Order: sequence, then structure tokens, then C-alpha cells
Amino acid sequence: MRSDTVTKPSGAMRRAMANAEVGDDVFGEDPTVNHLQEKVAELLGKESALYVPSGVMSNQLALKTHTNPGDEVIVEKDSHIFNYETAAPSLLSGIQLNPVPGVRGLMTAEAVEEAIRPDVYYMMPTRLVCLENTHNRGGGSIYPLKLIEEIKQVTVRHNLKYHLDGARLWNASVATGIKVSEYAKYFDSVSVCLSKGLGAPVGSVLAGTKEYINRARRFRKIFGGGMRQVGILAAAGLYALENNIQRLTEDHEKAKTFAKLLLESKLYEVNVDHVETNIVIFGLKPPFPKDPAEKVDKFIADTKSLGVLLSAGTAGKVRAVTHLDVSMENVKKAAEILVKYRVS
Ligand SMILES: *Cc1c(COP(=O)(O)O)cnc(C)c1O
Repeated sequence: MRSDTVTKPSGAMRRAMANAEVGDDVFGEDPTVNHLQEKVAELLGKESALYVPSGVMSNQLALKTHTNPGDEVIVEKDSHIFNYETAAPSLLSGIQLNPVPGVRGLMTAEAVEEAIRPDVYYMMPTRLVCLENTHNRGGGSIYPLKLIEEIKQVTVRHNLKYHLDGARLWNASVATGIKVSEYAKYFDSVSVCLSKGLGAPVGSVLAGTKEYINRARRFRKIFGGGMRQVGILAAAGLYALENNIQRLTEDHEKAKTFAKLLLESKLYEVNVDHVETNIVIFGLKPPFPKDPAEKVDKFIADTKSLGVLLSAGTAGKVRAVTHLDVSMENVKKAAEILVKYRVS
């Protein structure tokens, strides 16, 4: 339960990969890649889409294609782009990030507007606003459409581009019943992952206008992401889109169940209402030690030896993620082990 990135391709997915028709995708001749790109573009209601090796590359291509060196980009302080992409925006695009604090990863429109730089020559121009939905470090929180729209209005007023890191947009959509295209329509570019809860071994897709994606494709080659007979991987993505979206509701039920069961012990602090999708962030109460690193690292090592794999969340918290390779039974068993745990 460390992450939904640990999922392994199923037998049926592997068969789809083995049977994939392939060609040279640098020449645009891989039919399976083309099919996947068209399918994602259609799902997201965008003109065009581009298959890339990872979510990081997808986000970084989005930033590169929207900005010029010396520009500034507004992101949320706990966002993946700001925390887990290894300063790539500065290295690859020569841009600066302006991190705005949110609540469980969600920024207000006012906070975004306040972060926009005035138009003076000695300040960097703000070019782009990025949202993350669902929000990973925010605990799988979902951006309400109303808030997405309010921030959209800010971007329109200030002539800014709008990017969505939708690594887990599928989860938001399944949890709310709002179509991914309904979420995507506010944004100039949208990145989605196939390798998390959807269970593909590799791959993300960036979507936008035809002109935008044509420029992104050029940068993908520059970043070393031009691949050849990659339909063998894209086939896994197609299989995932066809078979593994609706079942994400099961992951959400498992996460809720896990959070509720944790409350049987006085050791854990968790807000069940905050478990909106497949991520559970929980705190460790006394007699756990105060020092956040000490208590979380030891707890994670202890539970590992008991057979439950967890990861560190933000600020002294623990993170558990449900996905297609942990069953409801596994999740209940994991919670039982945690409830029996004693601080030593
Ligand atoms: C996982 C993730 C990414 C991309 O990660 P990769 O490991 O490069 O695929 C981007 N954004 C969010 C919110 C993520 O959770």
C-alpha cells in the first residue's frame, strides 16, 4: 500500500502487449500509439495528444511548451511539479516556480491572483497556472469544478495559460461522476497517467490543441522521449483505459474502509471525510515520539516487518494508497495489523 505505482500488468494486459501492432513512432507510424493518443484526446475532449514515458516528462513538456526562459509558473506548494520533479523546470525550461500554499493541495482563486506578478520590467512575467487533480500530497483530494472555474477566470483576466496535472484525474472522475472531459475543458493542457491506478507498467499522455501538441512533440524528441516500436507499451495503456477505469471505485471503497478501521485504535489520527479517492494520509498520536522523522521512519520499518508496506506522507504523517493489486481482504488485514500495533 505504498503507492498505486507498484501495480503490475495482469496476464490479459501482457497478452494485449504481446499482440500489439507496432511501427516506428518517431515517424508517427505506430498504429497502437496513434490509437492510444486518439482515444485519450477524445476522452479528454482535446484536439490532440502525445504518448510519453512518464508523468514527469508529460508535465515538463507542458511547462516547456507553454513558457519562455525567465518566466514564472504558479503551482501549489505541495504539488508534484514543485516537490517531486527534481528541479526540472529550472534545468529544462529555465523557468521559476512560484509555490502557493493550499489546503489539502487546493489553492483558492484569490491566492492564485495574488501570486501573479505585476507587469514591470524588473519582475518575471507570470505565464502559467498549474493545478493537480486529484492532489497527491493533499491526500487524493478532488478539486471542485467551481474552484477550477474560478481559477480559470483569473487566468483569462491575466492572459495566463492553464495546465492540469491529472495523473489521477481518472480517480476524480470516477469518485464524482464528472467526466474527465468536463474537468479538462477548462485547461490548455492536461497530463494523465496510465501507470498508476490504471495498472499499465509505463506511460502518460499530454493533451491539448493540435498546434500545442505538435510543438510538444518536438520537445519530446529533444528530451530523449522519442521512442520507436512503443506500441507494445501503448497497448498496455489502451487495455488500462478499456478495462481499469470504472474499477477505481473499488480502490476508493478500500481506502475509506481502511481509514475507518484505523479509528479502532487510539494511536491514529485520520479524517475519514478527507478520504475522497484512493489515498489515506494519517497521523501518529502519542505515545509515538514527537520527532516526525523518528516516529514515521520507525513506524514504517516496523509495519514493513509485519507485512504492511506504507510510505511517509507530508509533515510527520503516513500515507497508504489502494490500487488494483491489493484486495479489500488485504486492506482489512493491513488495518488489523495496524490496530494491533503497539508503540515500543
Ligand atoms: C505520479 C505523478 C506524476 C508523474 O510521475 P511519474 O512517476 O513520472 O509517472 C505527476 N503528477 C502527480 C500528481 C503524480 O502523482
